Amino acid sequence: MYLHPEFETLSRSEIKDLQLKRLKDTVRHCMNSPFYRQRFADNNLTPEDICSLEDLQKIPFTTKQDLRDTYPFGMAAVPLEKCTRLHSSSGTTGNPTVILHTEKDLQEWAKAVARCLYMVGLRPNDVFQNTSGYGMFTGGLGFQYGAEHLGMLTVPAAAGNTKRQLKFITDFGTTAIHAIPSYAARLHEVMESMGIDPARDTKLKTLVIGAEPHSEAQRKRIEEMLGVKAYNSFGMSEMCGPGVAFECTEQNGLHIWEDYYIVEIINPDTLEPVPDGEVGELVLTTLNREAMPLLRYRTRDLTRILPGECPCGRKHVRLDRMKGRSDDMIILKGVNIFPIQIETVLLQFPELATDYLITLETVDSNDEMTIEVELNQLFTDDYARLQSLTRDITRVIKDEILVTPRVKLLPKGSLPQSEGKAVRVRDLRKPY
Ligand code: ADP
Ligand code: ZN
Repeated sequence: MYLHPEFETLSRSEIKDLQLKRLKDTVRHCMNSPFYRQRFADNNLTPEDICSLEDLQKIPFTTKQDLRDTYPFGMAAVPLEKCTRLHSSSGTTGNPTVILHTEKDLQEWAKAVARCLYMVGLRPNDVFQNTSGYGMFTGGLGFQYGAEHLGMLTVPAAAGNTKRQLKFITDFGTTAIHAIPSYAARLHEVMESMGIDPARDTKLKTLVIGAEPHSEAQRKRIEEMLGVKAYNSFGMSEMCGPGVAFECTEQNGLHIWEDYYIVEIINPDTLEPVPDGEVGELVLTTLNREAMPLLRYRTRDLTRILPGECPCGRKHVRLDRMKGRSDDMIILKGVNIFPIQIETVLLQFPELATDYLITLETVDSNDEMTIEVELNQLFTDDYARLQSLTRDITRVIKDEILVTPRVKLLPKGSLPQSEGKAVRVRDLRKPY
């Protein structure tokens, strides 16, 4: 049941002991990084000041901006000739960011991903098809190496070309797929149009969905559509990629591997730790990275630590499903709204499909929200029915977010499809 029982069955106190040992090693190792050497000097800190897990609080946070400022190699804690892989983010705002890996980093990353996949029941006799984009997007190579490490026959199908994707699924007897949630829905749509019944025509049983925020309602839809169990997978390039936190078969929160990371949840405004169980920004410290260790990295992802123990027996804490990034939060008419709240309401309506787009615009100097959402069935001509459905959706959304949106129902397939992560919000508001 455990791929790495030596780590997965640790008690809380054993986890803490291991973390302290690894934290001290990491901090010492960070002194090989020009960035951290300077950071520590500027704050009159030395590695000897970190004697307990509580001492972590003495170290300043590391931010995405720090990664940009040190672009490309200023964070590295090993000479470049020891590095064997580089991943980089797109960098739509300012410099891109670079993450370096040594051979050992890549092995550890593959092990972490394999551990996750094993945890949800995948074994070497499974056939694993990865529908992520390959290249810089870490969901490609990250799952590839992890699935291979587990010993599965791994199909690097990559993103797009859904018909070919489906041919692979049926011809190769694919049992498990990794897909971003928006693409899982797309797969089903094309299956339907081609007359493929997942239960009758495929061997699919497991789906790994991650890389973008999605609601519990979305997961349930995907499970029903494809007749699979879908497990939430969380990761980010700065922490290697996938393999950071993953649901176990309980499907109730994502175990974060505390032999790899120290978890903190902070209030993003005050930067103080939030009380146990409250939502805040996830802050991670890497514990076994060679090329680019990160201390107290502010992920900007909002979540909380679930209280209580998981029935699966693992003591590694569980993160709640991500609420989104702090920068995904919409502020409209003074109200804070997360797209995921809107998604949760929309998916309560069986008439609606899973694709939607939220547009914010300034109309006559008022900020307005329009929600376009696709209908599940073909567009009906029953105008009265559509009108009453629109009214119902509008009312339930208003109850949830306290703002009245304009709701537009569209025929299935009318919203633009993105190859990568789904675009859920367009902000066209005029700045004041
Ligand atoms: P980019 O920063 O360009 O989006 P990454 O692949 O590094 O590229 O994205 C990581 C981010 O994706 C995370 O910080 C988080 O916001 C989001 N993410 C990843 N997995 C999940 C998940 N399971 N649920 C919600 N959000 C996720
Ligand atoms: Zn569990």
